[in-house]
Order: sequence, then C-alpha cells, then structure tokens
Amino acid sequence: MSTTTVSLVGSTGSIGTQAIDVARADPDRFRIVALAAQRSVDRLCAQAELLHPELVAIGDASLAPELARRVPAGTEVLAGPVGLATAAVAAEVVVNGVVGFAGLPVTLAALEAGRRLALANKESLIAGAPVVQRARRTPGALIVPVDSEHCAIHQCLQASAPKSAEPDTSVVARLLVTASGGPFRGRKASELGSVSVEEALNHPTWNMGPKITIDSSTLMNKGLEVIEAHELFFIAYDRIDVVVHPQSIVHSMVELVDGATIAQLSLPDMRLPIGYAMGWPERLGTPYGALDWTTAQHLSFEPPDRTTFACLDLAYRAGRQGGAAPGWLSAANEVAVAAFLERRLDWLGIAEVVEETLDRCKDDPLDSVEAVLEADRLARAEAKAIVARRPHAP
Ligand code: MG
Repeated sequence: MSTTTVSLVGSTGSIGTQAIDVARADPDRFRIVALAAQRSVDRLCAQAELLHPELVAIGDASLAPELARRVPAGTEVLAGPVGLATAAVAAEVVVNGVVGFAGLPVTLAALEAGRRLALANKESLIAGAPVVQRARRTPGALIVPVDSEHCAIHQCLQASAPKSAEPDTSVVARLLVTASGGPFRGRKASELGSVSVEEALNHPTWNMGPKITIDSSTLMNKGLEVIEAHELFFIAYDRIDVVVHPQSIVHSMVELVDGATIAQLSLPDMRLPIGYAMGWPERLGTPYGALDWTTAQHLSFEPPDRTTFACLDLAYRAGRQGGAAPGWLSAANEVAVAAFLERRLDWLGIAEVVEETLDRCKDDPLDSVEAVLEADRLARAEAKAIVARRPHAP
C-alpha cells in the first residue's frame, strides 16, 4: 500500500487534531505534508515540530512573521486566504476541518484542483452549493464526507454499489439521518428559556467544538446535515428523515427500495469517519469506536420534537427553497450562536433570529463565488441587526 499525502486545513481544531492521531497511528499509510490554521500559532508550531510538514499556513496574515520564526528550518510558511488555499492543494487528500462559512475557499480550492476532499466543513457545501457542485465536476475531484452521519450513509451506499466514487442512489428509498437529540432532548420550549451556555455545551455523547455543540442542542446541526445530505447524495428532501437515537451508535441509515435498511454502527469516535475519508477506498487497519457485542446493548429510536427544536424545520424550509436560502440559514445561525455564546442572546432566540433572517432572504442567483460571499455578507448583516434589535438579553 502506498503512502497518501495529506493536507490538514483547520489542523488545530477538533477535527484536525484527531486527523493527526489517525495519521500518526498509521505512518506507512499517511504522510502529513501541510498544516493550516486560522490563528492558533502556538498549537500550529507544536504540530509542525511533531510532524515536520513541508508547509504551514496561517489564515491571519499578521501572525505569519511569528510563525516563520518558530517553525522548524526548511518549512515553507504561507499566509492569508491564498496561503490556506495553497495548503489545501499541497497533498493528494485534503481534510477541511475549518469551522463555519470560512471553509468555503478551502473546499473550492481542493475540488478545483481535482483533489480528494475529506469534508468536515458542512457550511461550505450548504452555503456555496451551486459553486461547490460545479467545482465537484472537475476531473479527479471527489468528496468523501467526514461528518459522521454522511460518512455512515456513504458506507451504507457501498452495500449496493461497492467502492463506487459516486454511489448509485437509484436504489435508495430514504436516507435516515440519526440525531443524538442533544442535551435538551425530552424538554419543552417552556423549560428552555433560561438555559445557560454551559448546559448547552454539555453534549451527552459527542465531544466536539463549541459551534457544532450548540448546533446540536438546537437540532440546527441536524437541519444543516439534512441539507448536506441532499447536496452530497442528491436525494429529495421528502426522502430524508431525521431519527432521534440517543446512544449515538447508529450513525445513519439507508433504506433501499426492496425494504432493506442498511446501518453503520460504532461508538461515537470521530477518528473512524476521519480515517475512512482519508483512506478511502481502502479501510484503515486501526480500529476506532469498535463495539463490544459481548455486553448488553440497548438502542432506541424516536421521532424528533419539531416544535421545541424549531431549527430543524427551518432548515428543511431553507433547503426546499434552495438558491440563497440555505446560505442565509447557515449565516444567520452562525451569528445567533456567536451571540448566544457571548451571552447576548437566549437559547430560544437562536431559532427566532434564524427564522426572522430567513424571512428577509434575498433570493439572488448564486452563480459565482462573489455572489455566495455577498449573500453571506447580507445574511450576516440582517441577522446581526435582528440580534441587536431584540429587547432582552439573558
Ligand atoms: Mg454530524
């Protein structure tokens, strides 16, 4: 088996550090040649010391001189958005672990260069769908999803079309995207008015970064994942369902036209989907999240509470509307989540801000990167104004 070169963009975050774990456990298989982060110089330097990549890139260009002083001799240092995009195309496989809409240039650079993209950044695909789909048609370009649900669906689809880059979805009846339900599962809106940032960050099964953890508490993460599933696998919204599964063992399922349902099961450990996406089409030899079937297991499933967790249906609405709406949804959510984390907005306010922003969505065609960036800018400005106008903060 030959060595695959890997570029990690967002290397200092939750996905990036776990990708380093995976690569270091399998040094014959993976060689990390590029590392990139937005502004965590200390962690980026420590990673460069450990891995001796060919290049490191920092998004915040003002930090480049310090980075250049501190990395091992012979390491090339790049800066700014161009630096991140250059890092993205420096290897055969690119892991995009950037948080939020900022991941879009990395996704586009990787696909336009015909690279395999291990995609953890769902927002780039959601907000930039028309331009990302165009870039995806570049010869050699391939997305293998890292998001655990979509990685599970990708694995399930191999059951009907083994090791096909773009699986045959004509045999798919439904996609069943599982959700843990987050820390507030079973509670009603009347009980959630005054929940704290700490309570919302206390995820029952997954250990992730703050933005996605808040998104899990509102079910917006699941809503974004429904749109992500639609864009990745081209399945209509009416055939994508969300199933709450509190144990986070079944990572998603595919129901086929003959009635069979295929599922992927493992303990919640992101290193499995990260390694799957980095190593595809081969399986890794290192097990992550294997279940112990000699002990009793209890798996339960229930429908989501769409009234309390209003973000879920807002995402379906934006997805069905298409055009700029998914990007507006995601941008408004980023603004609202940031305000919640800064204690300028209450938890119930997240869905309200997103809904009000979505009501103002200007549905201009997204035929260029500039149009995507402009839609994002407009949506953020609307959402920020809505947050500022709200009468009360917690
Ligand atoms: Mg997920």
